Amino acid sequence: GREWHLVARPHGWPKAEDFALREVPVAEPGEGRILVRNKHFSVDPYMRGRMNDVKSYTPPFKLDHPMDGAAVGEVVASDAEGFAVGDQVLHGLGWREYARVPAQYAVKVDASLAPLSAYLGVLGMTGLTAYAGLFETASFKEGDAVFVSGAAGAVGSQVGQLARIKGASRVIGSAGSDDKVKLLTEEYGFDAAFNYKTGGSIKEQLKQAAPDGIDVYFDNVGGEHLEAALSSFNLHGRATICGMISQYNSTEATAAPRNLAVIIGKRLRLQGMLVNDHKALQPQFVKDVAGWLASGELKYRETFVEGIENGYDAFVGLLRGENTGKMIVTLN
Ligand code: NDP
Repeated sequence: GREWHLVARPHGWPKAEDFALREVPVAEPGEGRILVRNKHFSVDPYMRGRMNDVKSYTPPFKLDHPMDGAAVGEVVASDAEGFAVGDQVLHGLGWREYARVPAQYAVKVDASLAPLSAYLGVLGMTGLTAYAGLFETASFKEGDAVFVSGAAGAVGSQVGQLARIKGASRVIGSAGSDDKVKLLTEEYGFDAAFNYKTGGSIKEQLKQAAPDGIDVYFDNVGGEHLEAALSSFNLHGRATICGMISQYNSTEATAAPRNLAVIIGKRLRLQGMLVNDHKALQPQFVKDVAGWLASGELKYRETFVEGIENGYDAFVGLLRGENTGKMIVTLN
């Protein structure tokens, strides 16, 4: 089977030469393991951080080793109790066609409840990030006005809709194309949305979209977006600092936000979050989100890139905004 290796650490934007798709033999599962034929694997912004050789909350990818990340697929051989050939599983050995997964790191999923790919997105890691980041980290409450950046992406699109479902007074989103902006207001029920690339100053656009200010900011982007949110915050506003994708490929420190002093007078709370700290919410998250999907209140998109050979393109495409909703590589 084929698998993607990191062969050089990118400086700034990743380049094709930093990666290699390599053929390796498919081995027997071995005791306590299952052999999974991956059907979909996830590419996620946090993987850019793992390409750097720096100490972080997840270890760096090793050079000349397969990269990893979330994947779903079918068990084709099992040497582990509780798993049988034909089971569908979610696990952590993506970026490859065949994965030998220790059974304790695999979770069976029900493909009749939701399409397999949903376990990578709306019912998976990005979904839990949205749910925990809004309801727990930001202490969202009914009547809050909520602004989310990266709003047409996997996390952001779910944040905005969860806020709407739970009674936000106003939901505002920003995204990088007119089609995405349209999707936010016409399909996801955002009250206002703007294109941060073409509409002029982010600060001014947010002021217009939220004339009465915002109470919660869900930050996926950092930089100018965070500065704009600080400027629009009402007293006692709360920000979930979830991601700063505008800086993941930067080679120099960015200037914004330049207005941090407003945190004092407005008594703001900015709280970083990591989804892995919120696993206790998983059962409630699945129950709520499955319900809202079934009722049609919650919608989602996925962008599928076909073929393992396009894994690198999918990853860089994600960083460039070529995805709407969850970016997924589908293997044939
Ligand atoms: P998305 O589906 O949102 O995809 C990334 C999106 O980022 C792109 O589609 C693009 O959309 C946008 N983007 C890229 N560059 C910029 C830029 N310079 N300025 C503004 N937007 C940009 O990815 P996810 O939903 O998986 O992740 C969203 C964020 O959440 C990321 O920052 C990620 O790191 C973070 N995250 C954090 C977790 C945690 O535990 N803390 C867990 C999961 C995700 P556009 O066309 O709008 O530019």
